Amino acid sequence: MSNNNYFSGLFFGIKSLLTGLGVTMKEFFTRKITEQYPENRKELKMFDRFRGRLIMPHNENNEHKCIGCGLCQMACPNGSIKVTTEMLEAEDGKKKRSLVKYEYDLGCCMFCELCITACPQGAIEFCTDFENAVFDRAKLVQQLNKPGSKVAEKKPVAKPAAPAAAKPVTEAKPVAPAAAKPATEAKPAAPAAAKPAAPAESAEAPVEKKESNPETPAAV
Ligand code: SF4
Ligand code: SF4
Repeated sequence: MSNNNYFSGLFFGIKSLLTGLGVTMKEFFTRKITEQYPENRKELKMFDRFRGRLIMPHNENNEHKCIGCGLCQMACPNGSIKVTTEMLEAEDGKKKRSLVKYEYDLGCCMFCELCITACPQGAIEFCTDFENAVFDRAKLVQQLNKPGSKVAEKKPVAKPAAPAAAKPVTEAKPVAPAAAKPATEAKPAAPAAAKPAAPAESAEAPVEKKESNPETPAAV
């Protein structure tokens, strides 16, 4: 190996070493985005679109929105939902369907969200819970309606007050323009009748001069 080849190889090695060290130092001082799971379990917040498991939200009066129509159960391709209802007689004598039990099997749910899309009431949704693993599959079957809960009654929507009848704006009658008197046009001065100058009586009528044809014989 010649000396030239030896030194060119040495410089190439040092250059590539410094390049690598530059990348390392740059990443060393860059802000870290790696999640230290499970150490950060307490402060870890999943993003909103994460589908952890199905839930049925209840309000402070232990009321939910589910009317037991069963559309979510029919929409579920996996049979992960089982809706049990009963018919109750309302005060006005009408029969009304009421939810008894809403069972959801997390073990066979594939998080397709078809049930949520099918629900006309917006009664179910996905929460962002994670770490749902259990040792017993039976624990994955959950009842979503809380004990003693009932469907929230819809409050009658107050009709908006009818706006005061707007009086028609009395339109200002357009002021009749003063009868515009036609401007008295200055009558053009009648041209003085140009009386043809009467021929002076004394004027002699033009006498037609008959040239006598010298060749025409005079009438006898
Ligand atoms: S997300 Fe899909 S699979 Fe899971 S319960 Fe709803 S419809 Fe069924
Ligand atoms: S969750 Fe929605 S679709 Fe399912 S039974 Fe209740 S109201 Fe019907």
